Amino acid sequence: MKNEPIIRRCKKCNCELMSDNKSKLCKNCKGERFSKIIKIGSTVGGVAITAVTTVFSVVTHRR
Ligand SMILES: [Zn+2]
Repeated sequence: MKNEPIIRRCKKCNCELMSDNKSKLCKNCKGERFSKIIKIGSTVGGVAITAVTTVFSVVTHRR
């Protein structure tokens, strides 16, 4: 009996996954997802920094 490796495919693009890849997505799709999170995070972060800067300037102005 041959010990054939189980070929798993990416859930998103259906490409072949590496045997050491334990996730359901390939590296490309994972990277895409990651860059999206970074984009959203930077947008939220920018808004937060703007809000903090505004609050800080108001507080500083009061003194
Ligand atoms: Zn993929």
